[in-house]
Amino acid sequence: MRIRQELTPLRIVMLTVLAVAFALAIIGPVAWGGAAEATHLDALSQGSTAANPLGTDALGRDMLARTLVATRLSLLLAVAVATLAFLAGILLGALPSLGGPRARRRAGAAINLLIAFPALLLALLVVTMVGIGTEGAVLALAVAGTPQIARLTQTLSASVVGSDYVTAARATGIPRWRLLVRHVLPNIAPPLALQYASAIGTALLSLSALSFLGVGVQEPRYDWGSLLAVALDRVYLTPVAVLGPAAAIVLVSLAFNVLGDALADMLSVDPASRGRGRRRAPVPPPVVAATDRDAVAAPDDAILTVDGLSVAFPGQHGRVTPVRDVSLAVAQGERLGIVGESGSGKSLTALAVAQLIERPGAVAARSITFEDADLARLDPAERDRRLATSMAMVFQDPLSSFNPALRIGRQVTESSEVHLGRRHAEATALATARFSELAIAGAERRLRQYPHELSGGMRQRAMIAMGLMTQPRLILADEPTTALDVTVQRQVLYALHQANAEHGTAIVLISHDISVVEAFCARVVVMYAGRVVEEIAADRLRGGAAHPYTRALLAAVPDMTTDRATPLASIPGRPPAAGEVITGCAFAARCGFATDRCRSELPPLEQHPDGRRLACWNPRVAVGTHPGQEDR
Ligand code: SF4
Repeated sequence: MRIRQELTPLRIVMLTVLAVAFALAIIGPVAWGGAAEATHLDALSQGSTAANPLGTDALGRDMLARTLVATRLSLLLAVAVATLAFLAGILLGALPSLGGPRARRRAGAAINLLIAFPALLLALLVVTMVGIGTEGAVLALAVAGTPQIARLTQTLSASVVGSDYVTAARATGIPRWRLLVRHVLPNIAPPLALQYASAIGTALLSLSALSFLGVGVQEPRYDWGSLLAVALDRVYLTPVAVLGPAAAIVLVSLAFNVLGDALADMLSVDPASRGRGRRRAPVPPPVVAATDRDAVAAPDDAILTVDGLSVAFPGQHGRVTPVRDVSLAVAQGERLGIVGESGSGKSLTALAVAQLIERPGAVAARSITFEDADLARLDPAERDRRLATSMAMVFQDPLSSFNPALRIGRQVTESSEVHLGRRHAEATALATARFSELAIAGAERRLRQYPHELSGGMRQRAMIAMGLMTQPRLILADEPTTALDVTVQRQVLYALHQANAEHGTAIVLISHDISVVEAFCARVVVMYAGRVVEEIAADRLRGGAAHPYTRALLAAVPDMTTDRATPLASIPGRPPAAGEVITGCAFAARCGFATDRCRSELPPLEQHPDGRRLACWNPRVAVGTHPGQEDR
């Protein structure tokens, strides 16, 4: 047992001290309140006796009884200081990380400024403004402790906000406060909790110091600090009176710090390591007009039309544009596949459509029309609502796309509760039905489980079920079957098929595996180096693909007739790097049919009468003919 291993003798002693202190805080004023207030003029400033083991003060009041009674106020004030500092620190540190880059920058600068300001000066400033006394001391110490908590929270939440499950939650349009409460805070709670325990101990020490100096708790109230001050005044007369409050302050503050350490060891949390190397959460950048020329003829019933989409990022030697002038359309209820090697721009295209490209990335497009509305012209709130309810995204790694601290059911039902106003019971019933539709056995039990308790394929299907909770009209599935074995691949594709067949949801399936796309989709868009190079009906791919790259992808897929004795076919060379300047066709360096024109002139993506789109100067079939007559 982990808890037993961490309970060293010192920790057991200190935890016992804490337990006794809390018990005294509850019963102390009731049990010894009378004795603590009773004055005995015949026993003024008396030393240790059988009746008064810790002696008496200048009014003959029993110091032991007063020390026991002071436990409640001392602990209450310390807890109040730590709680106020944590509330303010968490708000200051976590909220901006859910906002835009400007909010994060400003919050970071504010925290830096507060940390640079000496805590003691800050506390004195507040005491001067509020006034000497209990309230002033509590407020001053809370203000002084806030910057450290804010910095810790900022670091911890930055690591969580950059995770895939927060991105997934944002994609469902969850409001920021809800993201904070449900997804960020539960995942940073353990290190904050242990810090909180230590902060109570520090607050107790600081409050006692202020009371001892006469700027904290004032008569007639008293805490351990003010009792210590009284006892120290007469330390030469009754030295034993100092022992009670001094021992209480030292022991209890030490016990809180030991508790914090024990919690840290039990939870194996290293607060300093939690925020390293993580990316920031995406924010939707503005969509502005692009200038490139490729276009697409959208069908009348198009649910999504992307026209001239480009995505750019700042690079070491200027801007790089990993997605250039992509145009495509998806009809209602259609299954469209996007295929290409890693780095071809498939996933970035999907993220740009879902408005999830992170700054400093920039998206440019002539238009991105979803459900007959240009997303750039929509009011941001309406755009977010529309994307959250009508468009769902399925990410490649379902484990990192779910919040590990929340049960599956809570995450799956959230978007429909938020956006469609469903009651939790109603949303849970719907989630159970969705799970059953997608062949997830024991749906009710699965909803009560945590993500790590589900298999990879089950998590992926749960993610699809989550997307279906708002009955979206389009699902963008980004490599949903990558890294899954073939049996689980079939289950996931079946789930997407069910969504398409049962609810008429259009599917955009992104994959590097052209055989998966060919089998699942009606139409295939082939991307290379950030551009669409060919678009063709899936049933015409074999024998009908005209672009050398499409044909090379098909040739690289082994089938039952592939000779096991010969090496598997591959495409020679490598795709151009994102920042590489290319004149002419980007595939020319790897293409066996490249001519001088290919190397100097960019082939435009042209629409042909047979429904195909193609960007190649030397197509491998006669384009523009009817299906079945095109293979050379
Ligand atoms: S344009 Fe030229 S280099 Fe590019 S794919 Fe076609 S034939 Fe090959």
